Amino acid sequence: MHGLGKLNAILADGWNGMKCYAIRAVEESNEKSCAQCGKTFRGNSTLALFAEDNDHPVCRNCARKLAPAMSALLDLAQTAQRIGRGSRHLLTPPMESLLDLAHAAETYSTSAAR
Ligand SMILES: [Zn+2]
Repeated sequence: MHGLGKLNAILADGWNGMKCYAIRAVEESNEKSCAQCGKTFRGNSTLALFAEDNDHPVCRNCARKLAPAMSALLDLAQTAQRIGRGSRHLLTPPMESLLDLAHAAETYSTSAAR
């Protein structure tokens, strides 16, 4: 699927149904309780998926069920963030990091292209 179709799939994923989801920054190292299932989880990133009507992020499991494309996009953003942090002082990121990034990008484009 090409660019526009992919974008439409993302939008449909985010806007269909009752809720709209967004990826937002969260307080790092804070324990969060999932807005959807109520379970406490520890985020390992500064980014998380939020429902538009709630200040609490949803956990990874719920995000996957509720908004698969947004969840995959979040994974991609987190992977990029982690690699960016880890290889700040390197000329090029290690191959392993690049493969992680490629894998996250592939997962995202697969889920966004449904
Ligand atoms: Zn949950």
